[in-house]
Amino acid sequence: MDITQIDIEGYEKVCRAVDPESGLHALIAVHDTTLGPALGGMRMWPYGSEDEALKDVLRLSRGMTFKSAVADTGLGGGKSVIIGDPVAHKSEALFEAMGSFVESLGGLYITAEDVNTTVPDLEIVQRRTNYVTGLSRGSGSSGNPSPYTADGCVIGFRACLQQTQGSESFDGLTFAFQGAGAVGGPMAQAVADEGGQVLVADINPGRAQKVAEETGGTVVPIEEILFVECDVLSPCAMGAAFDDETIPELNTKVIAGCANNQLAEPRHADMLRDRGIVYAPDYVINAGGIINVSVELLPGGYDEDEARRRIGRIYDNLQEVFSIADEDGVSTREAAFRLAKRRLAQGRSEDSRSLNQLPTGDQVD
Ligand code: NAD
Repeated sequence: MDITQIDIEGYEKVCRAVDPESGLHALIAVHDTTLGPALGGMRMWPYGSEDEALKDVLRLSRGMTFKSAVADTGLGGGKSVIIGDPVAHKSEALFEAMGSFVESLGGLYITAEDVNTTVPDLEIVQRRTNYVTGLSRGSGSSGNPSPYTADGCVIGFRACLQQTQGSESFDGLTFAFQGAGAVGGPMAQAVADEGGQVLVADINPGRAQKVAEETGGTVVPIEEILFVECDVLSPCAMGAAFDDETIPELNTKVIAGCANNQLAEPRHADMLRDRGIVYAPDYVINAGGIINVSVELLPGGYDEDEARRRIGRIYDNLQEVFSIADEDGVSTREAAFRLAKRRLAQGRSEDSRSLNQLPTGDQVD
């Protein structure tokens, strides 16, 4: 296998692996390890070119740095991409070669599941490297992240409601869910269990119906869910729900959900602020899954109680985001970015303090 380094300004390490024997063509980007080793998923996608794959891995790894910094996981940001068709090109040899590629970074990058990679794929990767997380609970790993992502989002609801109405209670409030999948479904149930009213839409009508039945809620047509009158609108489907067309028509006080990349463009956070809608930045509220995975890497190994305790901090992180937004007069998206940058700067100064404390004469590589 041929592993080569690609120099990219602002990134600690970016590598390419080409292995004609297994057909592997992959990239790993380590954006920043100030706060710890770079954790991020392994994505497989039929990119049209290496350049396209490189753009994606750079964007995604940088995003992971900020997500982990705000979530306070003690980890940095990284990502990997395998260039290939997940239907036609998956093989044991390919994932074994990918394992060797991950191993070659010596723990600087730790991988996990992502789009088009599964637990069985990662179990093959693990034959060649121990720098793999998110495997089955039976193997001592942290298991399926979705229930933890859901818990974190429900905790996030409380922080948002405290901000808008001075109370964390769901009782008598209306929550509208766009998407009733692995994360949205349990969130709707948690809301109903505490007296909240559930409105739900899903492009899979069976899913919406099931969640409505289980929560005593109501199914809403998919084209109406974003615009219903509600206290909390919860995007739990795919990204880019909020744009120039949808934002003026919203009828909610809060946007808080698990979907990634909820805003079509960064400026839409300002539009929401101008409309007086409290927006919980997606990567702050949906961090429960990554916090759960990060607990695997603690010295004692995975501990569910510790994971839940740390997921509880999503409440404090959102409160901090809201106060930065108020104090600095910026959107919550920008406030989350400022919080991440503060934590990174603090990590850097702690690093340099510990170096300064070394006795004179010691070598620092
Ligand atoms: P999922 O596939 O289980 O659920 C998504 C649901 O949304 C599906 O039921 C799908 O039919 C529905 N849907 C898709 N487009 C829709 C639309 N336009 N209108 C209404 N419903 C629509 O996925 P999930 O694991 O629940 O994840 C949901 C979102 O949260 C994704 O954006 C995901 O990237 C993000 N996320 C998930 C996790 C996790 O731990 N699973 C962690 C962080 C972020």
